[in-house]
Amino acid sequence: MKFAEMMLAEMKLPEMKLPSSLARRLFRIALWAATAALPLASLAQTQVPVAYTISLASADAHLVGVQIALPPGAAQRELQLPVWNALYQIRDFAEYVNWVRAKDSAGKPLPVREVDKSRWQIEHAENGALVEYQIFADAPGPFGAQFNAHHAFFNLAEILMYPTDARNSPVHVRFTQLPEEWHIATPLAPLSASEFTADNYDRLVDAPVEIGDFHESDFDESGEHFRVIVDADPADYDADQIVAALHKIVGAAASWMNDRPFDTYTFLYHFPRGPAGGGMEHAYSTAIDINAEVLKQNPRTLTGVTAHEFFHLWNVKRIRPQALEPPDYTRESYTRALWFSEGVTSTGSDIIELRAGLMDEKQFLAHLGDEITELQRRPAHLTQSVEESSLDAWLEGNAYYRRPERSISYYNKGELLGVLLDLAVREASQGRASLREVLQWMNQNYARKGRFFNESAGVREAAEAVSHADLAWFFAKYVAGTEEIPWNDFFRTVGLRVQTATNKIADPGFIASRNFDGPLSVVAVTPAGDAERAGLQVGDTILELQGKSAAADLRQEMAHLAPGDTLKVRVRGRRGAERELKWKVGSREEVSYELEDMDSITPAQRARRAAWLKGEGQSAANPEAPAP
Ligand SMILES: [Zn+2]
Repeated sequence: MKFAEMMLAEMKLPEMKLPSSLARRLFRIALWAATAALPLASLAQTQVPVAYTISLASADAHLVGVQIALPPGAAQRELQLPVWNALYQIRDFAEYVNWVRAKDSAGKPLPVREVDKSRWQIEHAENGALVEYQIFADAPGPFGAQFNAHHAFFNLAEILMYPTDARNSPVHVRFTQLPEEWHIATPLAPLSASEFTADNYDRLVDAPVEIGDFHESDFDESGEHFRVIVDADPADYDADQIVAALHKIVGAAASWMNDRPFDTYTFLYHFPRGPAGGGMEHAYSTAIDINAEVLKQNPRTLTGVTAHEFFHLWNVKRIRPQALEPPDYTRESYTRALWFSEGVTSTGSDIIELRAGLMDEKQFLAHLGDEITELQRRPAHLTQSVEESSLDAWLEGNAYYRRPERSISYYNKGELLGVLLDLAVREASQGRASLREVLQWMNQNYARKGRFFNESAGVREAAEAVSHADLAWFFAKYVAGTEEIPWNDFFRTVGLRVQTATNKIADPGFIASRNFDGPLSVVAVTPAGDAERAGLQVGDTILELQGKSAAADLRQEMAHLAPGDTLKVRVRGRRGAERELKWKVGSREEVSYELEDMDSITPAQRARRAAWLKGEGQSAANPEAPAP
């Protein structure tokens, strides 16, 4: 508290000439101290850090040793391991805790009692205590914690318990017993090559850690520093190409938001040869996994997921729903706003890609057509609202829930609602305001003031403030409600209409879906169909399609097949046995949606479209021209 107060005082002195990046850093520290929701008294009482030591000794067994040095305090302490992190899914990481012990500063064992499956109680800790436990870590990907002979990657909340009476205390974390050629990359503030510090547990666990023999290519853009950490076979990627794309993304995003709330930002990439795919956002970093083959075939996969995760540094990390704060690591944290925090993040990242020149109009409109098709073909779009889909995120790990008749995706409908809200705000403000102003308003009025927004009502507040219009209808019908979306009413304003086409497509006879970066899993099989006759069962995991690793989604895979072609799959059954199955795929009719130009487009529609594709409002003086 003292340190931060001093910085606030220094910032007021006009004669202080600080390098701009240092000044920004100090200002952010001061701003954080001024806005953090911590009682100041508790800050003063808890200056002694909680010190973690993480030992990486047993790579082959994937065993991590953790030591927590608790400072003196209450005699009875409780330690909690989060039940969820990274995904909005209960994953009960305590499953992997082999044992827990504690001793006092003299080395005398202290009693440890399990309170519930994720919480332990220590007695006689008034003079401090050393708690030790062993945890298994072999979950790959940006949402996991993994330690093996190749590397370690940690979301620290999945392996580190916190003392329930000192979650706001500063923390130190030290890594020991690393192989000699391994290094550590993390956005955490370093104390040495292997020791790091954070203001509190929540900040600690918002920083992923990569430890291994990775490749680093850094760059600077407009005064900010970017670290690019890649853990992959050098034959599988082109570092220069990646850095060139990142330059464009970070520049386009910062200019669109007119904000750079960081000094250093870290991109962590893994390009494994096996199944992979996903990205996880953090306040000062992101971790992204892409299958090496997918990356080679389609480099746009990298720019798409990177733009999404980078834009999250505003939307969800700083422009944040109140319902997610403070995080409750012991149970589900329910919010109805994931349609905005995830879906509209995708809308924003589309605009960033357009502005960065990484996507053109044709690709953008084709992408929107695919998203409309995806929403419309799920019968649940008439029964589950996007707010309910947000609440039900906690069910996404369950295969039945992912069936098209049960759920819609808040990513999918949320991204489309972001587009429609953009068009609605433009229409209501004669083109002057746009989604950009909505997001900048939320950044100014919530994020920069240290406030959180009140679910969908907080989004509506922003949209109405910038458009000076009543948008209750939009939120009632399409956010809280399940009304069919009159696509043409929105797209007409930019001279587009939605065209449907009915196509005969290859029907594999089953539906498969993934739980984020999990394997492709069969969720439904057509009764008495060829797939069922061939022996495919609900619950089977698809390992290979047509002799290749099943890395993409099923729709993408099926796009290469015509009715009558033979489909070959290798699956693993619920009991672990693998089988090879093949059958001839059938056909079915599917309605697809495409955006196309209206027959005649007025100059006003043309001007609105140009501004929309730039993500900008139109000038008040000449609404037919994009803003300068
Ligand atoms: Zn996201």
